[in-house]
Formats: sequence, C-alpha cells, structure tokens
Amino acid sequence: MKPVLLITVYLGAVTLPLVASWIVGGPPRPFHQELASGLGILAFSMILAEFILSGRFKSISNGIGMDVTMRFHQVMARTALGFALVHPFLFGGSPAGGDRPWDPTRQLTLTTDFSDLASGIAAFLLLPCLILLAIGRTRLNQTHETWRLIHGLGALVIAALLLHHTVYAGRYGSQPVMTGLWVAMTAVAAGSLLYVYLIVPLRQRSRPWRLASVTRLTPKQWEMTLTPDGHPGLDFKAGQFVWLNLGHSAFSMRENPFSICSAPAAGPSVSFMIKELGDFTRTIGQIEPGTPAYLDGPYGSLTVQGRPEPGVALIAGGVGIAPLLSILRQMRLTDDPRKARVIYGNRALDQIAHREELDGQDVTYVLSEPPDDWAAETGLIDAPLLDRLFTPEEFNTWVFVICGPPAMMDGVEDHLLKRGTPSHRILLERFDYE
Ligand SMILES: Cc1cc2nc3c(=O)[nH]c(=O)nc-3n(C[C@H](O)[C@H](O)[C@H](O)COP(=O)(O)OP(=O)(O)OC[C@H]3O[C@@H](n4cnc5c(N)ncnc54)[C@H](O)[C@@H]3O)c2cc1C
Repeated sequence: MKPVLLITVYLGAVTLPLVASWIVGGPPRPFHQELASGLGILAFSMILAEFILSGRFKSISNGIGMDVTMRFHQVMARTALGFALVHPFLFGGSPAGGDRPWDPTRQLTLTTDFSDLASGIAAFLLLPCLILLAIGRTRLNQTHETWRLIHGLGALVIAALLLHHTVYAGRYGSQPVMTGLWVAMTAVAAGSLLYVYLIVPLRQRSRPWRLASVTRLTPKQWEMTLTPDGHPGLDFKAGQFVWLNLGHSAFSMRENPFSICSAPAAGPSVSFMIKELGDFTRTIGQIEPGTPAYLDGPYGSLTVQGRPEPGVALIAGGVGIAPLLSILRQMRLTDDPRKARVIYGNRALDQIAHREELDGQDVTYVLSEPPDDWAAETGLIDAPLLDRLFTPEEFNTWVFVICGPPAMMDGVEDHLLKRGTPSHRILLERFDYE
C-alpha cells in the first residue's frame, strides 16, 4: 500500500469509534468530560491499531519501509499513552459510586463503581510499564525473544482490560452498537497475533529450508546459504529481508531479521551476511549444514527494481553492505543498464567483505582506521566525501540506497537532502529500531 493510502486507512480506523460514538450520542455533558471520553476512545483504538503496526504485515511494511513502520508504531504507542494518562483526570467532579436512580442507563454520569473501573485502572498501570519496558529493552538483562513474548502477551492483556473498561464503564461503549464495534476491533487485533504466531508458522512448516553452508567472511562476519527443501524458494526483490528461524520449531519465537545478500536471479538458494553481535549471531559458526530453517518474508522496501533513475548509489557501512550486495548482484545478473556506484565504509581493512567481487565494480572503500599503506579513502562516509564522489547532476537524478550504522545513515541522508536529492530518491534500511 502507498503511504498516503496507509495514513488514510490508519486515520479512518483509529477515528472510527470516536465518530461512531459521536453518532450514537447522548444527552449533553460538560466539555471536559466529553474530551476525557474522546481521549480514552482514541487511546484504545490507537492501542488496537498497534497490533497491526507490529511490522509483520507486508502490505504495510513493504509499502512504507520496516523502519518507518516501527518508528510509527513507537510514536503512536507514546501518543496513545499520553491520551490514556490524561483521560481519567479530565472527568473531575464525577458523582460518587453506587446506584444512581436518576441515571439508570449511565447516560449522564460515569460509573465510579470499583468493579467497573478496576480493569481501566489495571490497564492504566500496565500500559506505561509495557512502553517503558519496550524503550529500555536493550538495557535489561533479557533476550530479545523474552521481550517479544512479554510485549505481545502484555499488549493482549491490556487490550482485554480496556475492552472490559470501555464496555462496562464507558458512556458510549455500553451502547450495543459500540460494544459490537469494540469487540470486533479487539478481535481483529488479537487475531493479528494469532496470524503471526500460528498461521504464518503453519505456512512456513510446509516450506522448510536447509542450511547448505556457513563460511567465515571476515573476523566477525559470516556468510550463510540456505536451500529450499522441496519447494521452489522465495519470491523476493533484491534488497529485501526475511525473518530467519534456524534450527527451531516453526512456532518458535527465536527468529531474527536478516537481509538477503544474494540476487533473486541467482537461483532458489538465498545467502545472508551475518555479523556477530549477540546470543544468536555469535553461534553462527557452530551451526551444522543440514540444519532445518524457516523463512518469513520477504519484507522491506529497500529495492530499486523498476525505478526510472539513471544511476544507483549504494552506500554501506559494515554489514549494511548485505542488502546492497543483493541489489548490485541483481543488476549485474540482469544486465541492468543503470550505473551503479558503491561506497563501502569499514573500520579496518580485514572487515571488507567480498572484496574480490567488488573490486571489478565502481567502488570506493572508506576505512576509518586504515593500514599505513592504504591509498584509498580514509575517515567516515561524510559530506566532503560525497561531494567528491557525486556530481550535482547525480545528486539530483540518481537513487541513493543507504544501509549502515545509524549515525552514518543520518549524516548521509541530511547531506543528500542539502544537495537537493528528493526524499523519494533516498532509500534506507535500519538494522536497529532504537
Ligand atoms: C531489517 C533488518 C535487517 C537486518 N539485516 C541484517 C543483516 O543482513 N546482517 C546482520 O548481521 N544483521 C542484520 N540485522 C540485524 C540483526 O537482526 C541482529 O543483529 C540480530 O537479530 C541480533 O541477534 P542476536 O541474538 O545475535 O543478538 P541479541 O543480543 O539478541 O540482540 C542484539 C540486538 O539485535 C536486535 N535484535 C535481536 N533479535 C532481534 C529480533 N528477533 N528482531 C529484531 N531485532 C532483533 C535488537 O536490537 C537487539 O538489541 C538486520 C536487522 C533488521 C531489523
């Protein structure tokens, strides 16, 4: 889906309960109470939409990019938290609990019965915990898989609590039509988890892969090749990535995202360049060929297929070369007439991967800690380097594909924008969503 369409669908979905509540209506109330209800309604629908913005739906993440999807997920979660935190305090001055014979249908006043409010209070306390845990996940002593499990289950519990609170304590949610809408929306959100953790693994089970080889590329980088086991393989575009589950059940949460570095035109096997980083990637060298694997994908929008620009600049830092290598290889294998220029930054000489293959191309290596006899570029991929390598016309007409450390990507993107490269000609893939 295109970005404009996605935003329209998102706005439509999260404002639907608000609009429906307004249509359902009720006797007038003070403005601050209407505002309180409105913010509560918006917060709940935004939280439900977060399930769909989890990054595992290709129609979303392949349209706007995985990093944009995840950033949007994070920003919307914080916005919903803000609305949710303000929501109870705006009611102010509500009457005490107990029976209100003058208002048996709760049209005029809110409940303060604890049983009806308890679910809202629990969600009110859990939501900030869930978001703080997500923000601080890398600083906590837990695996990424444990965090994902806690995050998914926590979100599900919060959604169930909010559904109860909205239906039993809400002025609008208790109306049958609104109850039906909220139940349907919560079911879609919960169903998205079922889809990701049950339906997708079931599909993967019928399309297994096997580890064909693992070879060391550089002191801390490995190349891994997988072959399809009894099926034709993956239909992907150069530059895309998959979630790789190696050696576990298809239903396991132990899967990591990796860009494919081989070209689609090279055949059904797929290769990955993997840098040692944490508990999974440090074990790559010990995994036996023949190990079963499952792939979920392809994901991502870092692709130049079918683009009209006359040239493709591939700017990589470290293992960020992986998706760009796939693009370069595909361009070569398909005799792509567009020019391709690679800028590949690393710290040290022995970190440059696939040098023999790259040497035959238009490539500029950049080393921040070069050996004494290094005659090529030194330092970082920065503005002066880009100005030396690209003409003003190239800045304006080429597509720039960037993948590497966040600081490098931000610096390059800023400079390209300064040089007049339109933002639709700058494609980025972040390996980290912090
Ligand atoms: C779209 C994308 C493409 C990537 N492509 C490559 C690639 O081609 N080559 C490469 O070496 N690395 C790539 N990465 C990074 C790679 O996914 C992580 O380095 C790897 O998952 C670390 O796993 P670990 O268990 O060894 O490390 P851990 O110590 O568990 O994690 C280190 C960090 O890696 C990230 N991470 C770990 N597990 C996951 C997960 N399941 N999902 C998302 N993030 C996770 C987290 O930010 C975590 O803090 C890519 C990441 C993304 C998002």
